This record gives sequence, C-alpha cells and structure tokens, in this order.
Amino acid sequence: MIKFNDLQKINALHADELKRVAAEVIDSGWFLQGERVAAFEKQFSEFIGVKNTVTCANGLDALHLILRAYKEMGIMTDGDEIIVPANTFIATILAITNNRLKPVLVEPDIETCNINIEEIEKHITSHTRAIMIVHLYGRACWSNKLDALAKKYNLKLIEDNAQAVGAYCFCGEKHRRTGSLGDAAGNSFYPGKNLGALGDSGAVTTNDNSLAKTVEALGNYGSHKKYISEYQGLNSRMDEIQAAFLSVKLKYLDEENETRRRIAEYYQMNTKNRKIYLPLSERDRESHVYHLFVVRTEKRDELLAYLTDNGVQVLIHYPVPPHQQRAYAGCWDGQHFPVTEKIHREVLSLPISPVLEAAETERIVKLLNRFE
Ligand SMILES: *Cc1c(COP(=O)(O)O)cnc(C)c1O
Repeated sequence: MIKFNDLQKINALHADELKRVAAEVIDSGWFLQGERVAAFEKQFSEFIGVKNTVTCANGLDALHLILRAYKEMGIMTDGDEIIVPANTFIATILAITNNRLKPVLVEPDIETCNINIEEIEKHITSHTRAIMIVHLYGRACWSNKLDALAKKYNLKLIEDNAQAVGAYCFCGEKHRRTGSLGDAAGNSFYPGKNLGALGDSGAVTTNDNSLAKTVEALGNYGSHKKYISEYQGLNSRMDEIQAAFLSVKLKYLDEENETRRRIAEYYQMNTKNRKIYLPLSERDRESHVYHLFVVRTEKRDELLAYLTDNGVQVLIHYPVPPHQQRAYAGCWDGQHFPVTEKIHREVLSLPISPVLEAAETERIVKLLNRFE
C-alpha cells in the first residue's frame, strides 16, 4: 500500500540524530523549561523571521493563548468577533470559542481554499477585533488588501500557521515567512505536520514583545515569576525532548518542503483527467509547502473508493465543515456557506510527503488518469 504520510519513514531519515538527542535529554535529568527549549525558540525565531517564539503544548494552545493574551491585555473582551475562514480545521474555531469570542465565518475562494479576501470587509462590525487567516493545506494566504483592511479597521491580524511552517510570502518587495506576516501566529508541530515533533507541541511567533510575555506567563500557570500568579493561566509548555527533536528536524525543513513541491509539480504536470481539479500551482512556488495535496472532484467518494481499492491511502480534509458540526449546532443558523460545503463535498487529499517515492507518485498519477 502507498501510505498517505509515512511517519515511520519520515523520522527514520533522521533516526541517528533523534536517538542521540533523546539520550542526551534522558541523561540530563532536565525535562521542562531548559536550554533545549530556549535554543529551539531562538532557532525558530530566526527561521520564521520574528523577534519572539514562545513554545507551548500544541497548535490549538498556541492560537488559544494568543487570543487569551489579547483579552488579558484589554484588547479583546467576551463576545468580540473574530473573522475566520468557514472551511478551516476545527481547532481554529475552538481557539476562538474557548475564549468566549465569536467566530464570524467567511467563505473561502474555491481555487485556493483560503479565505476570500474580497468577502471580508462586509463582515466587519464595531465588535470585530481580529482577522484570523489560515494558510490552509500549506498555501500562504496574503495580500496587500488584507493588510490594508486590518490597518483601516484597527484589527489584529492573526495567522493559523499550523499547516504552512516554512512557506514564504512575497509581500510586495519583501520576502517573508508565514508566521511573521501578521501580529501573531500559531504554529503546530503535531507529528503529521511539515515540521513534526514526536508528540504534541506548538509555538506562538510574534514581533510584539508584550504579547509574547503575556503568552509565556499564561502558558505557565499565569506566572511571570514562580509562585506569583498574574493571570488565571494554564499549563501549556513544550517538553525539552520535543524541543531537541525539533531542533534536529528544523535543519531539514526547507529541503523537505522542496521535495513536497517537486511531488506537487509532478502531479500537476502529469495528471490529465478533466474530472479532477488539481490545486493551482503558485506563481511564487515557495508560497506553498504542500502540507496536503488536495484535489477536487464531483465524484469524490468514487475516487476515494477507487484509489483505496488500488492500494493508495487517501484522506479527506475535512469531511464536515465547522458550521455543520454538532458541537456548534445552532451557532450559524440562517447563514449559508455554499462554497465551503462544495469544498467539503468534493475534496480528497493525495499522498504527499518527503519520503514518497517517484515510482509511487507515478503509480498514483497513472491511476488518476485511468479514473472514469
Ligand atoms: C493541526 C492544526 C491545528 C492544531 O494544531 P495541534 O498541534 O494539532 O493542536 C490548528 N489549525 C490547523 C489549520 C491545523 O491544521
């Protein structure tokens, strides 16, 4: 079988280094808030191009802590509105509602599956405090218009960078990484993400020093100083062992993302089946890191069955949109999201990873071209 994302193989690439640093952490007897986390935070800040990285337990917490910090800083309050794409992964929405803020869903662009920037302004009200963009599937979501909108209405621009770590954005003259484009970003190092730990972990990246300080305290029981509680915080920290693994894997991330791009190009150049829409290739190819390679077809369920029967593991990201989840029953009654629903009905994610072999990609393309 061709695996969707073979984590065993991905980590085997770096097995010697990973085992060596694991042994170092075990021997050190120091497991939290130590030099390995500090070193990774510094490396990640340099990589992304921001002043601050604050590590935490996972990507959801990173987003949650950003919003919570804005509340503690008096920038947001209960019931304030956050604009967010309607077709995102549920964690983006959870970070908002868990903070008693209100997600305002905006339809995506059918071609990029990222928020439709043209649709944002009409959703802005006097209660809007932020636009949370999601670089979905690994494709950077950005435009000068987005930046201008956030400035015009004095909104925070928050990035959900969980799927796009390593992507670039060509913002006019500037060439910046996602995770450094807005006021703050949540990053995920879930094992299946492009920069995957060997367990859960995440990080907030930001140029805002006071936000970074607040996030850091909130993730450590609400304390800047041991046993002195500033906020009613939580415990959300990155383990030393995960930081050690991530410092190893960060060195290879650009190269591994480049492999993903080459696989995507192969799919794009060789798939000739008109029933299957492939993701648009980017003019600036580095603005997509292909966390997922998501195709669309009206015959999605048939394609899924066909590929599975032929030994190719494929997945759906995501089968049910947030507004149709039972957890949010009634939250967006009377609103319609036809583009979002079409995406959720038609998408299928093909295998893509730094260890997918050329022969495997060729086989998948042959199967796609024979699908009727
Ligand atoms: C993975 C993911 C998250 C959450 O990250 P975790 O580390 O799994 O908590 C948030 N948003 C998006 C878009 C994701 O893909």
